[in-house]
Amino acid sequence: MPNESLQTAVPICPDCKRPLDVIAACGSISYFCDHCNLLKSSKRVREANPELFKEAE
Ligand SMILES: [Zn+2]
Repeated sequence: MPNESLQTAVPICPDCKRPLDVIAACGSISYFCDHCNLLKSSKRVREANPELFKEAE
């Protein structure tokens, strides 16, 4: 059984692996990490969460 059940539909930070806040504004989506206190680029978030984005080509 996989032991990574904390990850559901919430993308995780590519740097600290904690859940990101998803901020949707003006037709685009931003990702903010409370732990790093930084915005994360969607490109890096996609790369760190391939399972969440596999439907969007
Ligand atoms: Zn982080």
